Amino acid sequence: MTPPETRLRARFVIGPDAVHTDATVVVRDGSVATLRPAAPGDTDLGEVALAPGLINAHSHAFQRALRGRTEHLRAGREDEDFWSWRDLMYRTANALDPDDVEAVSRMAFLEMAKGGVTTVGEFHYLHHAPDGAPYADPNALAHRVVRAARDVGLRVALLRVLYHRAGPGRPAEALQRRFVDPDVDTALDRVDALAAHWRGDAAVSVGLAPHSVRAVPRGWLEAVARAAGDRVVHLHACEQRAELAQCAAEHGMSPVALIDACGLLGPRTTLVHATHLDDDAFARVARARPTIAACPGTERNLGDGFLPAAELLARRVPIALGSDGQADIDLFNEMRLVEYHERLRAERRNVLARAHGAWHPAPADGRLEVADLLWPMATTHGARSLGLPVGALAPGAPADLVALDLRHPRLAATTARTLLADLAFSAGPDCVRATWVAGRPVVVDGRHPAQEATLDAFRRVMRRLDAG
Ligand SMILES: [Zn+2]
Repeated sequence: MTPPETRLRARFVIGPDAVHTDATVVVRDGSVATLRPAAPGDTDLGEVALAPGLINAHSHAFQRALRGRTEHLRAGREDEDFWSWRDLMYRTANALDPDDVEAVSRMAFLEMAKGGVTTVGEFHYLHHAPDGAPYADPNALAHRVVRAARDVGLRVALLRVLYHRAGPGRPAEALQRRFVDPDVDTALDRVDALAAHWRGDAAVSVGLAPHSVRAVPRGWLEAVARAAGDRVVHLHACEQRAELAQCAAEHGMSPVALIDACGLLGPRTTLVHATHLDDDAFARVARARPTIAACPGTERNLGDGFLPAAELLARRVPIALGSDGQADIDLFNEMRLVEYHERLRAERRNVLARAHGAWHPAPADGRLEVADLLWPMATTHGARSLGLPVGALAPGAPADLVALDLRHPRLAATTARTLLADLAFSAGPDCVRATWVAGRPVVVDGRHPAQEATLDAFRRVMRRLDAG
């Protein structure tokens, strides 16, 4: 039950523009009513920082089943790379029945909730039976995934993938049949049916996700641009160098140039990864300002390369974050990796702070905090990517909140001034004391009520997969 009004008082509250000390968030009917100084009678949460819930803008929930199972070299396979990982991922994808998909998704979403995530953008491409035949309801697996997110308590943007082929002139391979729609009109009809099915749940939204320029032909990208309306569009772009060469051979241009030429590059679009951008692509994203979904944990797991984050931020291109392949689900870590990868590239410190002036007024003391650039990645930029009014404790926004434990050793002696830096550089999922979505408690005292049942169901699936 959602009480009509709660007044949550905290040692610190991260507001849209400042960190407030001893403040209260008033929640009414599931939304933030106001943020004000604490007053007697408010519900005192004690030594916590209250923040907007974190936004995981790019997830493939089922890939939680791969964790720990791909971190080895197979005998005779010294060439292990992204593509051989993808083959293992496909085999796992094809071993999951609908109950398994739901159980594994639930596990991933539970871990996100416990790590302070309140909204997930689920890039969903597992649609059909392993032989490619649609289920009685062609959206059956998407419904399972949305159901898993909602049962855990997360807000979910289901980014329904459109997938057609293995690559230029090559039909889908056997292990890709679960992802494939026969033509773009059928695919778009299925997206519409999915959105209509969930229209009654304000915490569910549906976006369009042409998988990549490798997996759909140009005509599909153009059809998506015509059909998108006010829906968000997500695509994998420029993750691997081989994709760039392939796109140049087929279209005579880079993936970003192609996406732009198809009318798909704009503020409602998210390019996932974007680890390999040429000068022309930089100019296009600087003009069109899509969101870039960075998944630095996954990008380094897969050997994708470095995101040129400093160059993007200097051009006022927003960066969101995703847990993507789920080898690790920790949005705090994803935040710092964006900066740390830039430090390793530049062999300097505090690299992203150089783009501070592109986003914030000059601070009076001249101190340019890197965290001022990192915190929006996990909050407001993620919300922009998913087209949702979340990510900030602003009046009228859904009351999606996270309470972070200031007594946790990681955060000991934090101050209003150092809080964002402490969160971005030193916090972890274990600092999360509580979360709320639309004012309803999801994680309470560090616990989720469905934790044991979720772990048991997940272990059963994994025992079977490991034995198979
Ligand atoms: Zn992905």
